[in-house]
Amino acid sequence: MKKRNALATRVRSTSSRLTSRDLRLNAILTGLEPQEATAVIETGSRVDLPVREQIYWPEAPINDVYFPIDSVLSVVTRMEDGSQIEVGTIGREGTSGIPLLLGAAVTANESYCQVPGSAITIDAKLFHSLRANPRFRQLLDRYVQAFVNMLGQLAACNRLHHVYERCARWLLMTHDRVGSPHIRLTHEYLSMMLGTRRSGVSIAAATLQKAGFIHCDHGSITILDRSGLEDASCECYNVARKQFGGLLHSVSGVTGQRAALTG
Ligand SMILES: [Zn+2]
Repeated sequence: MKKRNALATRVRSTSSRLTSRDLRLNAILTGLEPQEATAVIETGSRVDLPVREQIYWPEAPINDVYFPIDSVLSVVTRMEDGSQIEVGTIGREGTSGIPLLLGAAVTANESYCQVPGSAITIDAKLFHSLRANPRFRQLLDRYVQAFVNMLGQLAACNRLHHVYERCARWLLMTHDRVGSPHIRLTHEYLSMMLGTRRSGVSIAAATLQKAGFIHCDHGSITILDRSGLEDASCECYNVARKQFGGLLHSVSGVTGQRAALTG
C-alpha cells in the first residue's frame, strides 16, 4: 500500500490554500457554519487532480475526503481479471466520504479522478467532526440517498441500455458536474467507465458526432447540442438529474453554469 500511496503522491499536480469562496463551489460544503468553515480553510487544501489520481483504494484506510469543484471522480468496481466498470460518479454535488458516513473505515470499491479539475480535501477526522452540524448532516443524508438511487439506476442502465444511450447519459451527467461543454477524456477511458469495448464506444461517439451533438478531438469531447444529447440518452439521465438536481443547482450559479442545465 505504501508503494500505491507514493505513486499517488507523485502524480498529484498542485495544491493551494483554501479561500471562503472555494467552499461555496461544492454543494455539501455550503452547509458549514462560519466556525467550521474556518477549520476547513485552515486545515484543508484545494488540489488540482489529474486523470487517474487515486482517491481511495479497495480495502485500504480512507484518510482523506474529497469535495469536487469542477473535477469528476468515479467509483469503480474492478474484477480479478483487471476489467472494471464505473458504478458511481461524484462531482460538485457531493463528496467521496460516503463510506465513512456509513461507518466503514475501508471499502470494497475504489475511486479515482475521471475528469481532471479542482477539489477540496480535508482529513477524515475533521470530516467526522463536521457531521455534528445538523445542516451539514442534512445535506449529506440527501446526497447519500441520491447516490444510492444512482447506484441502482446505473446497474440497470449498464445491463439494459444500448451503449449509444449510455454514452449520451454519461456525457450529460459529466457536463452537469464539470460546468463546461469541453470534457477531457479519451474513448478508451470512456469505454472503461461504461464497461464496454472501445470499438463500441467509438461507434457510439461517431454516431453522436455525425448527428451534430458532440465533437470528438484527440483526448477530449465537446458538447455542441445538449438538447439533442438529451434526446439520445436513455431515461436514466433524467432519473439521475431529478435525484441530484437540487444539490447541483445550489452550486451551478456560483460556477457560471446555466441553471437550466441542472433542472
Ligand atoms: Zn440507462
